[in-house]
Amino acid sequence: STFSGLGLDPLIVAHLANKLNIEKPTSIQRAVLPALLPTLEDPAARDVFIQSQTGSGKTLSFLLPILQDLLPLSSLSWIDRSVGTLAIIIAPTRELAKQISDVLEALLKLRLRSQEESSEDAAPRLTRWLVSGLLTGGENRTHEKARLRKGVPILVSTPGRLLDHLQNTSSFNVGKCRWLVLDEADRLMELGFEETIQGILRGLDGRRKLAIQAVEEGKSLEAGGWDWSRRRRTILC
Ligand code: AMP
Repeated sequence: STFSGLGLDPLIVAHLANKLNIEKPTSIQRAVLPALLPTLEDPAARDVFIQSQTGSGKTLSFLLPILQDLLPLSSLSWIDRSVGTLAIIIAPTRELAKQISDVLEALLKLRLRSQEESSEDAAPRLTRWLVSGLLTGGENRTHEKARLRKGVPILVSTPGRLLDHLQNTSSFNVGKCRWLVLDEADRLMELGFEETIQGILRGLDGRRKLAIQAVEEGKSLEAGGWDWSRRRRTILC
């Protein structure tokens, strides 16, 4: 099967092929994309539980649907970064958060470059408001607050720093947040972040959200004492 056959937007498919040399979906992507891509029949994102090995392509399996979900917002003339944070990806370590952020930046850079090259027709859907940001506590808090005040539509963060800003940074706007990804959720639990995650979930309460718990094969979330939602949909690869 192909990315197009799975429902990925032709613009994104072209970017992947032309610029990243990614042509064929991996097995986890074949399983996850149809479940996460927004469709007319099922516009509401659902909780998904992904279990896959390192190197299987799970990062793109959640980043691509997020991108496709947010791109149509670009056609709204009023939208800019001040819309706040629409997607949050939580990773257990700074290193992993940085890796995810690098993949995301590559995806979004493609968009910018192609916007410059593309025809007038394609351009309105691909505007510059959709930027990503990395919060890992490696930076001084005042600088992080200033970035959040400007607006970070897609945010990659470690859990402690994220909760800190949810509780203490009044200009951190998560009122329209649509996606929450817990990457390597088993490690988040092992590292003792369970209460922090619960705090984050409370901070986003009442908003439409999606939790994707990507865990390594053979590990179980229940081992970490995590009471995972009844709406969980499990995808094993
Ligand atoms: P991940 O498991 O997300 O860490 O991805 C592992 C590596 O596979 C990364 O270097 C990705 O760029 C690459 N990758 C992800 N999806 C594909 C694909 N469909 N085709 C080729 N390479 C891919």
